[in-house]
Amino acid sequence: MHSNKPLSSEDQVKAIADTAPIMLLMLDKDNNAVYVNASWLYFTGRTIEQETGEQWLKGIHQADLDFCLQTFKKAAFQQSSFKISFRLKNGDHNYHWVVCNGASRLNATGEFDGFVCWCLDIDDVMVANHQENERQALVSSQNEDILSKELLSANEELLTTNEELASTNKALQLTQVKLANLNDELEEKVRLRTTALEESEHEQQTLNEELVATNEELAATNEELATTNEELLSSQRRLEKLLEELKESEHRTRSLIESAPLPIAVYKGREMKIVLANQSIIDIWGKGNDVFSHTYHSLLPELGNQAIYDQLDEVYTTGKAFHARNQRVDIVVDNVLQPFYFNYSFVPIFDTKGEIYGIMNTGAEVTDIVRAKQLVEQSEKNLHNIILQAPVAMCILMGPKHTVMVANDMMIEFWGKERAAILDKPLFEVLPEAREQGLEQIMADVFHRGETFEAVEMPVSLYRGSQNGVIYQNVVYEPYRDNTGKVIGIIAITTDATEQVLARQKLEQSLDEVQKLQRQKDDFIGIASHELKTPLTSLSALIQVLTVKLRDTTDPFVNGALAKANIQIRKMTNLINGFLNISRLESGKIHIEKQHFRLNQLLHEMAEEIQITTHSHSIHIHDHEPVDVFADKDKVGSVLTNLLSNAVKYSPKGKSISVNYVKKDDYVEVSIHDEGMGITEQDLDKLFDRYYRVESSYTKNISGFGIGLYLSAEIIKQHGGRIWVQSKSGEGSTFYFTLPLN
Ligand code: ADP
Repeated sequence: MHSNKPLSSEDQVKAIADTAPIMLLMLDKDNNAVYVNASWLYFTGRTIEQETGEQWLKGIHQADLDFCLQTFKKAAFQQSSFKISFRLKNGDHNYHWVVCNGASRLNATGEFDGFVCWCLDIDDVMVANHQENERQALVSSQNEDILSKELLSANEELLTTNEELASTNKALQLTQVKLANLNDELEEKVRLRTTALEESEHEQQTLNEELVATNEELAATNEELATTNEELLSSQRRLEKLLEELKESEHRTRSLIESAPLPIAVYKGREMKIVLANQSIIDIWGKGNDVFSHTYHSLLPELGNQAIYDQLDEVYTTGKAFHARNQRVDIVVDNVLQPFYFNYSFVPIFDTKGEIYGIMNTGAEVTDIVRAKQLVEQSEKNLHNIILQAPVAMCILMGPKHTVMVANDMMIEFWGKERAAILDKPLFEVLPEAREQGLEQIMADVFHRGETFEAVEMPVSLYRGSQNGVIYQNVVYEPYRDNTGKVIGIIAITTDATEQVLARQKLEQSLDEVQKLQRQKDDFIGIASHELKTPLTSLSALIQVLTVKLRDTTDPFVNGALAKANIQIRKMTNLINGFLNISRLESGKIHIEKQHFRLNQLLHEMAEEIQITTHSHSIHIHDHEPVDVFADKDKVGSVLTNLLSNAVKYSPKGKSISVNYVKKDDYVEVSIHDEGMGITEQDLDKLFDRYYRVESSYTKNISGFGIGLYLSAEIIKQHGGRIWVQSKSGEGSTFYFTLPLN
């Protein structure tokens, strides 16, 4: 391949030498080959590396080497040319005779610098000469003609050869001229270079000085560098430490984020690629743990119509954080779109150049709180509705000033004001007249102590229209609490009891009057029975005397009349005694005088006494072991008489009455059972009240005053016993009483 680059003159010389049909050898002053041309190498069959230096000398026949070296030495000494022949080994390891012309080479300063030698293979000529010598020896012994002829042809051949040699010599001379020119050029170049070298030596010295100075500077710089290096090393160590700490802190931050109960995620780029997300937010998303192969949009497509993508994009565009509170976000969890509530933030994240590269999403799920709040709001709404529709006056008073938050029509009417004038105003500002009546203090106590206040028929003076009247309220002031239990107001419930109070006052008035009348009645009964008792005692004594005097009479009327008179007198005596006892009871003058007696014996006595005047009913006493009691015998006797005569009075004829007694731990229980009309449930409670009588078609023809059971109950109570009845209408009655044994 040819290069277009122009050849240097030395290269040009070599190129010419290489094309020359003659072997060329350039020696330095020590006979080392500095150059051989292509013809030389072709002849010796060796490479240029094998021929350069003193190696080329090995090709010279051993017998010729000394002569050659002597010739070189002499020519070098004389700085002259030489021409010698010697045998040189060719590529086939055969020695050929060569003729060598050498010329001295001088350097730029004119000193001897070696030889330029050009050699020609003359082995054929030398062989021919040898053959000629042999032939000439032969000629002397043979025919001169033949010899002449042969000499002639040999001469011709020699002539031809000589001609060839002459032309070759010409070519050689030409080449020699060219080489001499080239040599001149080379020498000029060498001279120029030497001058340049000298100049450059000077420059080099200057440079050296500069270098020394620079070196010194460099040494100083080096020292500084060494110091800097140390500083760098220590700051590198610090950096490494910092890096380590950073790694540690990054690890900590990451694990902090990952373990945080607060949902945290980081999205990168405008496409919002999920690069960080802790378990908390992964759980909220409800899409499984494989979230990092997603963008926010691909993971949560259901948020597409919920403004959230726009919020993210806005943050990414403006670099301004976005915060939402109690925001409803519908997320598909378990394949169902469900509403959740969050407080969340989208905060831009910037790189070191201040450019936004992502968004951090933090949040807190507040679904429970929001739902609870909604429930509270709902229940507050319900409470307001309840208050507005309540059939009693109700209101809610808020704060320490009792500002009217809600009040129903009844309450507004009760206050006697316009709704607009009272709503959202502190209560005592619009009802100043209520302030002085202790209500303000009561409400303050409810608000500050959190205790309910209840009052019945509390009198309050209020202006109603232009009138200032007293009204009576049943009030309940209940503390109104928020969901933390703190009192924030009062729920007031008021019922107007004015009408009832006035009615009751009227009733009490009439009761007073009734009682007054009752007392007058009692007084009258007391006086009347006292007054009746004396003539009745006389009448009874007179009839006793008359009975004795007329005991022999045979007149049946007289006998019958006396017996009936006796019965009526006993009845009347019992009645008057009852009235007397009542009046004694009222005036507290009844006295219990206790004694020991046998109860079963008294039962028999009282039953027999009743049975004397009663033939329509039979009385049976169930006897057991005798029971002794410590009681007022007369008064217990009057109780038995009353119960037995009632059993007779309120039973149809022919029925029997049974009397029983049972001794228990420390008391005795007596029962009188009849098979009579019985008593309805509503009458049972009132049976022992004073003057109480059952009013029915059955009883309307039975005389009585309704004092017997009342007196009996009082007597038993004064003994520390108990009296009661078991009965059903139409099924008979059993009256019980107990008496303590001691
Ligand atoms: P009185 O018998 O004089 O009316 P009491 O005080 O003895 O007064 O009795 C009160 C009322 O109790 C009676 O009016 C009667 O209606 C009712 N009563 C009393 N004993 C009996 C009884 N054994 N059976 C049904 N009702 C009775």
